[in-house]
Amino acid sequence: MKKIFAANWKLFKTPQETRQFFKAFKEVSSQSTGELVFFPSAISLEAASQELVGSKIKWGAQNCYHQASGAFTGENSAQVVKDLGGSYILIGHSERRSIFGETDTQVADKVAFVQGLGLTPMLCIGETLQERESKKTFRVLETQLQLGLQKADKSKPLVIAYEPVWAIGTGKVATPEQVAETHTDVFNILKTLGFETTPILYGGSVKPDNAGELIKQPHVSGFLVGGASLEPASFAKIASV
Ligand code: PEP
Repeated sequence: MKKIFAANWKLFKTPQETRQFFKAFKEVSSQSTGELVFFPSAISLEAASQELVGSKIKWGAQNCYHQASGAFTGENSAQVVKDLGGSYILIGHSERRSIFGETDTQVADKVAFVQGLGLTPMLCIGETLQERESKKTFRVLETQLQLGLQKADKSKPLVIAYEPVWAIGTGKVATPEQVAETHTDVFNILKTLGFETTPILYGGSVKPDNAGELIKQPHVSGFLVGGASLEPASFAKIASV
């Protein structure tokens, strides 16, 4: 299976910085044999779409509403992402869940809606430090997957990103052993739910110097990268492991 290397730019990069990034990235990214996916912030999506016309690099939005249009002030339309040539929508990132109160029920609606449009949802799951320390990781991930995928279509594309909340943006990466163990758990949960062919990405402080070891772990199909994806050479290195 082709590895997937995804970049979550969060609320960084103006449209102009987005254009500059892709000009530089195209020079350095030729080593990657994986699928590359970028999630710029909403206002920079159109700039990304224009820079990536005719390229194999995929892109999408960091969030969307579960309807195409309507009186939903402040939301993003996955239909517009599709119309502009995007292919993915990131759903349920831990910052969406913890800062904006996104629930598993909303996540489930978004996953189903995005699949219905023919785009690929990249569903993020992960436990907090407190949940890991109190040995609740398996149960938390199982619940997030059961609820988040309750309306999902098994025959349509889907990607899972396992991102331990304590490792996101903290510089505290999960150990290869933790990644191996948890990805095996996620794989087993997905299998029970009938989604056993779904790629499982790891996310949480992935950097050029730890990516090589993490990619070798069982059931790791690629990475979702935040901080280290903002700089072309660093993300290109990660995407070349
Ligand atoms: C993320 O934002 O999904 C992420 C994994 O961030 P970072 O790589 O900076 O930890």
